[in-house]
Amino acid sequence: MSRILLEGVTKRFGDHLAVDALDMEIPSGAFFSLLGPSGCGKTTLMRLIAGFETLDAGRIVIGDRVVADARNLTHIPPAQRGLGMVFQSYALWPHMSVRDNVLFGLRTRKVAKADQTARLHDTLETVQLGDLGDRFPSELSGGQQQRVALARELITDPAVLMLDEPLSNLDAQLRQDMRLELRRLHARTGRSFVYVTHDQLEALSLSSLIMVMRAGKMEQIGAPDDIYADPQSLFVAEFLGHGKLNTFPNGPGVPLPLPGTARDRDVYLAIRPEDLEIADRADDWTRPAQVTAKLPMGSVQVLALSFPGDRTATLEAPRHTQLPDAGTEVLVRFSPRRLMAFDPATGQRLAFTGPRDRHLKSV
Ligand code: ATP
Repeated sequence: MSRILLEGVTKRFGDHLAVDALDMEIPSGAFFSLLGPSGCGKTTLMRLIAGFETLDAGRIVIGDRVVADARNLTHIPPAQRGLGMVFQSYALWPHMSVRDNVLFGLRTRKVAKADQTARLHDTLETVQLGDLGDRFPSELSGGQQQRVALARELITDPAVLMLDEPLSNLDAQLRQDMRLELRRLHARTGRSFVYVTHDQLEALSLSSLIMVMRAGKMEQIGAPDDIYADPQSLFVAEFLGHGKLNTFPNGPGVPLPLPGTARDRDVYLAIRPEDLEIADRADDWTRPAQVTAKLPMGSVQVLALSFPGDRTATLEAPRHTQLPDAGTEVLVRFSPRRLMAFDPATGQRLAFTGPRDRHLKSV
């Protein structure tokens, strides 16, 4: 059991609240990502869990052991928390072979020689470095070096593996390969992974559970699909997604047949570029627009659209979809199932409730 429980976890640096009374649970065996913009407190939270920082308030439980409690000043040191840590910089010993670097993880633990050899073999196989045990770090690619760093932690059999932006030094192709590798490792080891990243694509593709952080607080927690498809705030909606979110700050009199609460008040509407469609004929949910540019972007293509009243948006469609050229007048459909409404003051998601609710759900 390696569930991690945080209760009222708080950390200040001077006047700055880096982590603000956070309550959450990381289930055993999860691939859990802490996602958020620079400075939101991700690394601080990870360092609190690992024991490199002390709590100002709250408590942290790993498995059934309280590892930190601000009330009675409990603070179990990092080495005794049963965690492995992998950072952006691999910090391998340059004068040691791959084998010795990996075995280094076991030096401080009393493990019998025969057991060490067996573990080394299994671990190098797990990270697919079985043939490279004699090489030195300078003879390895960036991805291979990162795998040595992973092996050095995995050989200690940690209950939880903590990874802080481990792929950010790698080039784009290698990052993608390493993402697949990390997923495979997670499945194979059955351990909990806690992953810090500001890269939403990385979090979406790797995690079983994502917590989006903002200014030291939890903004939303959920499975990647839920966070992407059902963001509870404008912040989360804008932070996730590869194309820029289309937003329509609207006063009263939204030009679409919005239901109940959303119709009778100011709302901020948003829809993802891939959720806009070109329509054949007008209905309640279409609006006229002009195509101002058509941009091929490899696997997808993007239309820049201009609506009356100086509003603009982008529409994204797969590469082979037939799309109108620049200069064409079109009808754009705002699918009511995909349209999101937010409170302009708080940024919180507004539910489409009211008389049309039933209709909306069945569209
Ligand atoms: P990044 O993605 O840039 O690493 P982050 O989300 O991991 O950002 P943290 O490193 O946790 O953010 O920092 C959170 C806030 O706390 C920041 O405003 C940072 O400047 C501040 N902070 C972090 N560590 C310290 C420290 N040791 N002393 C003072 N302030 C700190």
